Amino acid sequence: MTELPADGIALVMRPGVRELEVRRRLVTPPRAGNALVRVDAVGVCGSDIFLQEGGFGDKLPVVPGHEAAGVVVAVGDEADATWVGRQVALYYIDAPASRWSAGDRENLGPDVTRMGVDVDGAFADFVERPVSTLVAVEPPLDPAVVAVATDALATPYHALTRIARVSDGETLAVIGLGGIGSNAVQIGRHLGARVIAIGRGEAKMAQARELGAAEVIASSAGADAIRDLAGGQIDVVLQCVGENTDMDRLAIDIAGYAARVVFVGVSLSAFPISATELIWRELSLHGSRGFTRADIADVIGLVRSGALTTDHLTRNRRPLIEADAALADLRDGRVLRTVLIPDREDPDHAVAQ
Ligand SMILES: [Zn+2]
Repeated sequence: MTELPADGIALVMRPGVRELEVRRRLVTPPRAGNALVRVDAVGVCGSDIFLQEGGFGDKLPVVPGHEAAGVVVAVGDEADATWVGRQVALYYIDAPASRWSAGDRENLGPDVTRMGVDVDGAFADFVERPVSTLVAVEPPLDPAVVAVATDALATPYHALTRIARVSDGETLAVIGLGGIGSNAVQIGRHLGARVIAIGRGEAKMAQARELGAAEVIASSAGADAIRDLAGGQIDVVLQCVGENTDMDRLAIDIAGYAARVVFVGVSLSAFPISATELIWRELSLHGSRGFTRADIADVIGLVRSGALTTDHLTRNRRPLIEADAALADLRDGRVLRTVLIPDREDPDHAVAQ
């Protein structure tokens, strides 16, 4: 086995404290069935803020970071040694054997553990993960591209292909044009849908047009204006805005006959709906939870072929130790995503307890 580095840093999110704590941790050989992965890029996502604000419940302290790429530096017993040296995308869910994981629905089921929520994640130099959660990337790509593929692309891909089953020629309305919604626009377009992008802010709306939206409209325009713009019938609505019951309600209001409404943006709040609304239009409502390893492999293939872009997701890069500033940028709406790169050559990187 190659010699392991002695230690590395990890950034710990703590309850009631905005700033992450930089800790130096010893690197230990991975346990049986696991791989030790050197993190080369990790995305900063709205879910990290949801975590910090208690949306997942009482999870802190934990090292956040659930969309990441790196290289396997060691494997434990019972793990295939050929993983060592390979670039991998990290799948954030570790699912115990169940009818769900056996049936290609490993994102579901009881007792799934989520990297960066239930167990320590990738805001770190190294992370130990079950080999079963790794997705090989061959030949290697820019790690920042691989990192954002594992959530910002894979989440809307799962919602549109697996859950909504969008087909060629359908009209798709995407509500919210941030890290998930902007990519729902380009994936919907790739799947052959006519995409109506609904959001706010000039920059995000202009970007949605660049990513392939046929029409772009402010959410404040209201349901009637949106339906009119769409030509009367919207087949699929993807609601990507978190914690906003007005947008949950808008999703129902704009859905057409036999439409599928898919909720992706997480919210803990209830919103009103009547059974007749579902009945008269035969609406079906869906939740879409994350994605699977197969989704990651698919979107990486689509990026490689040029069908999908990640330029808008990877242009903001910061050293790992600037995670607090990256979270603030996201919280204040200055960026869709920041990709953190552990800069192990930087003397500041090594300053930790
Ligand atoms: Zn995320």
